[in-house]
Amino acid sequence: MSIYRKWFCSCRGKPVELTVVDQNEDQTGEATCPRCGASPSSDPKKTITYKDIEDWND
Ligand SMILES: [Zn+2]
Repeated sequence: MSIYRKWFCSCRGKPVELTVVDQNEDQTGEATCPRCGASPSSDPKKTITYKDIEDWND
């Protein structure tokens, strides 16, 4: 079992899932909202939320 985190941004009213873009080998990709640019570490409007998903398939 593993747990992964889904990120959402609610800048447009309802939460929209963000996708994480891998940057390079040294940096962990961070989910960024394509609409407002918010990310978990840069969330001035407090629109970022997350949900931890348990994956029982592995
Ligand atoms: Zn947003």
